[in-house]
Amino acid sequence: MSDPYQHRARKRFGQNFLHDAGVIHRILRAIHAREGERLLEIGPGQGALTEGLLASGAQLDVIELDLDLIPILQQRFGQEPRFRLNQGDALKFDFARLQAEPRSLRVVGNLPYNISTPLIFHLLNNAGLIRDMHFMLQKEVVERLAAEPGGGDWGRLSIMVQYHCAVEHLFNVGPGAFNPAPKVDSAIVRLVPHAQPPHPAKDPRQLERVVREAFNQRRKTLRNTLKGLLDAQDIEAAGVDGSLRPEQLDLAAFVRLADRLAERTAGQTSDA
Ligand code: SAM
Repeated sequence: MSDPYQHRARKRFGQNFLHDAGVIHRILRAIHAREGERLLEIGPGQGALTEGLLASGAQLDVIELDLDLIPILQQRFGQEPRFRLNQGDALKFDFARLQAEPRSLRVVGNLPYNISTPLIFHLLNNAGLIRDMHFMLQKEVVERLAAEPGGGDWGRLSIMVQYHCAVEHLFNVGPGAFNPAPKVDSAIVRLVPHAQPPHPAKDPRQLERVVREAFNQRRKTLRNTLKGLLDAQDIEAAGVDGSLRPEQLDLAAFVRLADRLAERTAGQTSDA
């Protein structure tokens, strides 16, 4: 007899379900949830991680987009008062709804790879609520998140995420741990929002602007790529060598450029 709760994985929702008990255990151990903590799981799917997260005694909210998975999750975990099921799109989810204490929320997810970058940015907008995040992502994305200046992986994602968080590439996971198996390797990353950014920018929006512009053409020198925002004197005044390429600059140097831009923008507004 066919199982009414049998679910066929959907590509458009980025569904690759974890089935390797060893990998599931290793992820749960890295998260190390405790009784009384507030957890948020994004994309619980059929509950591969959910079960162990709940077993810790923590209070768990989940956000799942696929309507067909809701009765499956409800049947498996609905009896547990510490479990709360939120149906919807995590990219549009209002985290204030969770009424979590500042720096309390522990966010977890084997994320759909197609939304992982915008989702991390959406979460960073709510970084004040978050204690830490553990995600399964495409390995290549984890390498970019954890990158250091000087290499090809260092770019907008590394800089903007490292501005807000300490990043740790924990371990890699091969395609065989999932059903269906993805075409790429995966990895687990831990992101811990800083209590205070180590290099605070006067205006983080200007940091976003400078970094975006700089990496638009990563092969060119900063003097060239930043032409529309800062002139050679501004770049020099920020203590940056304009003949370097963007990937050679560390976070602190990008913040100095962003501060220069913030001063300029403020000057232009007051001159007007
Ligand atoms: N956590 C499960 C596991 O490890 O087996 C499922 C992981 S699967 C890679 C990603 C899950 O995220 C799927 O259940 C999918 O339906 C869900 N999902 C996809 N897009 C979503 C979105 N925008 N918001 C919330 N959940 C989403």
